[in-house]
Amino acid sequence: MDGKQFIDGQFVAGEGAVEEILAPATGEVLARVPEASPAQIQAAVKAAEKAFPGWSRTPPKDRATLLLKLADAIEAKAADFARLESRNCGKPYAAALNDEIPAIADVFRFFAGAARCMTGMATGEYAAGYTSMIRRDPLGVVASIAPWNYPLMMAAWKLGPAVAAGNTVVLKPSEQTPLTALKLGELIAGLFPPGVINIVTGRGESVGAKLVTQPQVRMVSVTGDVSTGQKILQAASEGLKRTHLELGGKAPVIVFDDADLQSVVSGIRTFGFYNAGQDCTAACRVYAGAKVYDRLVSDLTSAAASINVGGPDGQGVEMGPLISERQRQRVAGFVERASQQKHIEITTGGKPGSGGGFFYAPTVVAGARQDDEIVRREVFGPVVSVTRFEDPEEAISWANDSEYGLASSVWSKDIGKAMRVAAELQYGCTWINSHFMLVSEMPHGGMKRSGYGKDLSMYALEDYTTVRHVMVKY
Ligand code: NAD
Repeated sequence: MDGKQFIDGQFVAGEGAVEEILAPATGEVLARVPEASPAQIQAAVKAAEKAFPGWSRTPPKDRATLLLKLADAIEAKAADFARLESRNCGKPYAAALNDEIPAIADVFRFFAGAARCMTGMATGEYAAGYTSMIRRDPLGVVASIAPWNYPLMMAAWKLGPAVAAGNTVVLKPSEQTPLTALKLGELIAGLFPPGVINIVTGRGESVGAKLVTQPQVRMVSVTGDVSTGQKILQAASEGLKRTHLELGGKAPVIVFDDADLQSVVSGIRTFGFYNAGQDCTAACRVYAGAKVYDRLVSDLTSAAASINVGGPDGQGVEMGPLISERQRQRVAGFVERASQQKHIEITTGGKPGSGGGFFYAPTVVAGARQDDEIVRREVFGPVVSVTRFEDPEEAISWANDSEYGLASSVWSKDIGKAMRVAAELQYGCTWINSHFMLVSEMPHGGMKRSGYGKDLSMYALEDYTTVRHVMVKY
């Protein structure tokens, strides 16, 4: 089924331009996938539209059964999925196998159960002789558009709540990483009725844009860049489609003088550089109290320099390459411009890795100031900036002085202080003495230009449904 579109329960060869899928660790071509043609995109949407009445009336417990079977099937093929994902993204095989696959299975299991808990309300009499009830119903066909950093996980975050709630879906993975989504199609083909989940691949400007504007699509869910979110929002406005936008991030990490520095350094080492920093919640913008600043920079520099960088199958590898040469150039450009500032010191990294792949060394940028580009813009690479602050108010105002509002963290032994600061941060999520911990039960989503709508949790289920009022005259 490699590289084929999954439409109405069938695998068909794409009829559009051929996309070369690269292995970022070597730069070699992994696969050639012909993208979906306009007619195939329309066919996928029509299949989803046709499947909607039956699927939306399928009792939640039966929808749940299929989602649970899908979770089991993914786990049974965990090694295959992890191998494919790690090759296509360049990430360590162990991370894909031990971190991502269990989380993906858990997302499907969570939404299987959650759909059975989704209830409307019997609300009572608001006009004499009438009684009201509130229904929570699916929307119809959902277009789900996913990025390349966690291809299968983002597909799961979108498919889980949409399908559990009774919607039908056309999923478009990133043109750079369609392989695991297509493999997921093989499992879906054996479980779900035709048309409930369809998968089309190809570029954003061709396949994505065409998908979003299909009149039958009632909701568009996208995880990607801010500019992509804006384009999709504009395109969706024509049909007044519901949108769910999970966009960029630039997570501040506020480290107070009384924080446990060892946990801070180990936390940033892990969550600033996880997935080579290609993560919208990456711990990339550190604000350190004046008393801990020097020690933090020095310890973080050693910690970052100790990260084991290599290809997906390397022994003990912690960080892989970037997704593409373009992304590496972009990251290198940010670091190069930062290094030209007199007040900035690149204490480790700041150079591409060796070998044939798109490697870039874990990089620490010390002495960065609030108005520096490296502090303000999303780098989406293994680069952590550290800025010194003098008092908590300064740290809070700098943390909030960002166009993004996705994730943040506060580190202090004084929990009261950390909670006061958390309350003032304009971010969809704040972790205290931690960073990056996600669970299926809790919402993930942004504020400001990080977008709106929640992934994971019961809130996602709400986002993929609509509230309807039914009134009965006695
Ligand atoms: P991207 O915006 O380039 O692409 C995302 C998806 O949108 C791809 O499938 C792409 O083909 C599609 N697309 C692009 N233009 C389109 C258009 N005009 N119409 C329809 N579809 C279109 O993003 P990316 O480079 O794949 O991913 C990196 C970005 O994703 C970063 O900015 C990152 O912060 C963000 N991200 C956000 C979250 C979150 O939860 N908020 C999670 C992961 C990644």
